Amino acid sequence: MKVFTTIGELRAELALSRGRSVGFVPTMGYLHEGHLTLARRARDENDLSVASIFVNPTQFGPTEDFATYPRDIDRDRAMLESVGTDVLFAPTVGEMYPAPPKTTVEVLPLGRMLEGALRPDYLRGAATVVAKLLNIVQPTRAYFGEKDYQQVLVVSQMVRDLSIPVEIVPVPTVRDADGLALSSRNVYLTPAERRAAPRLNLALAEARDAVRRGIATPAALEEHVRRFIAEEPLAEVVMVAVRDADTLEESGDALPERIALLLSVRFGKARLIDQAVIERDRA
Ligand code: AMP
Repeated sequence: MKVFTTIGELRAELALSRGRSVGFVPTMGYLHEGHLTLARRARDENDLSVASIFVNPTQFGPTEDFATYPRDIDRDRAMLESVGTDVLFAPTVGEMYPAPPKTTVEVLPLGRMLEGALRPDYLRGAATVVAKLLNIVQPTRAYFGEKDYQQVLVVSQMVRDLSIPVEIVPVPTVRDADGLALSSRNVYLTPAERRAAPRLNLALAEARDAVRRGIATPAALEEHVRRFIAEEPLAEVVMVAVRDADTLEESGDALPERIALLLSVRFGKARLIDQAVIERDRA
């Protein structure tokens, strides 16, 4: 695996591969099996696979965990090497932002609702850095986890609106044996919180059952899921949203055909998210 920390060197290397398909996996590092699943797809479906590791300061709010976000570049490097990633791009903040950027990409209204309302900087910062990385790498395909469901929709809308020539490939959430979605932020959990955290994915299954049993409205489904999560004393519900899976708009009193259920739940220091798309006729 070749490792580059500057845009210039990376571009020079990628110029040698013109005409070959390139699969790209942008990450913030502290990798786990979820990231590696994306990296394997990028390797298997393209001639050349590229991953990036960059903890992007512009997508963290002033009170968020940019400074303490877990980092371990040596371990990440070895993990990417083990799955056959060809190129790693690991720039510094100074390389990506030599001067405070005056241009941002904002996808509206998608980027300001739900997670974007809880974290006003997140989706604008993420869309902007993904646009930058897509311009730097110019991949054929870019791989994103469905765990960050709203991010996938934002990035897909952005590449359509800006005519960025890339195929966005969504990848299903990779989970631990007990169902907890893998996340770099799971390291914030105490052992007791880690034991409690699968309540999040159990709530997705509970919602699917409720839909199957014929629960009638988005409000009733949200309330049902809230109560189910609240039965776990260590869980503090931040957000339960039942939305149309394509637009994330509210659907009034009727459940949409394709339901996106988006959850955000705090366990101690960690705010975890999870998500499911429930197809009503297949629930
Ligand atoms: P992050 O490093 O958290 O910014 O994540 C980088 C990419 O990996 C994003 O596209 C995430 O959605 C994806 N990802 C993170 N966790 C998982 C997971 N458990 N399963 C699948 N993809 C994931």
